[in-house]
Amino acid sequence: MEKRDELYAGKAKSVYLTDDPDKLILHFRDDTSAFDGEKMEQLARKGMINNRFNAFIMTKLEEAGIPTHFEALLSDNEALVKNMEMIPVECVVRNIAAGSICRRLGVEEGLDLNPPTFEFFLKNDALHDPMINESHIETFGWATAEQVAKMKTLTFKVNDVLKKLFLDAGMLLVDYKLEFGVFHGEVVLGDEFSPDGCRIWDAETRKKLDKDRFRQGLGGVIEAYEEVARRLGVELP
Ligand code: C5P
Repeated sequence: MEKRDELYAGKAKSVYLTDDPDKLILHFRDDTSAFDGEKMEQLARKGMINNRFNAFIMTKLEEAGIPTHFEALLSDNEALVKNMEMIPVECVVRNIAAGSICRRLGVEEGLDLNPPTFEFFLKNDALHDPMINESHIETFGWATAEQVAKMKTLTFKVNDVLKKLFLDAGMLLVDYKLEFGVFHGEVVLGDEFSPDGCRIWDAETRKKLDKDRFRQGLGGVIEAYEEVARRLGVELP
């Protein structure tokens, strides 16, 4: 596999073309951002941890029958993935209230959400990722009604698999954001699953073990990511 030109640089990952038009290389950087890129820092080891964490989770999801873009771990900071046409929509499931739902709806952080909520957001930093609904997605052509239904089903299936995985390791999966793409006509999970894009609390103490430590200036960000990885059994050098 030959790495070619950079295709795109996001806030935490860069995407490279390869000599295979169906494959891309994701490079996980140490850059850590919050508030649509307003707060930015380099956190040593973060790219490597998230790359390995993501490989571990994507493999678990594949084993559970969820199609993902993940192909192989290439190095500490790189993974080989399918080259998909990304759907510009973020899918968020919440098991416990935290973050924007508390601000928007005035609910208290920590409230159990039963059944879990599902929300769509438009992937657009300039507009601060506004919340959208299925009608917007269809009208503006971001995805078809069929693709919307598939994204919802897969996002909830991820919840079934990961809630248990985290709970078995003494952690609560509070919420998470997924992004999907289309590969040869099929809706496939893309982007990454790491503590950058989900909330994870210790099941006993409810200590935050995710990017909220960075957003809220709580410190110990990388130590928390390593703790989550260690508890799940992700191998880290
Ligand atoms: O900010 P909010 O509470 O809506 O975030 C819900 C979940 O989605 C959190 O786990 C957050 O880390 C994730 N998220 C993300 N990228 C965004 C927005 C939210 O990873 N642009």
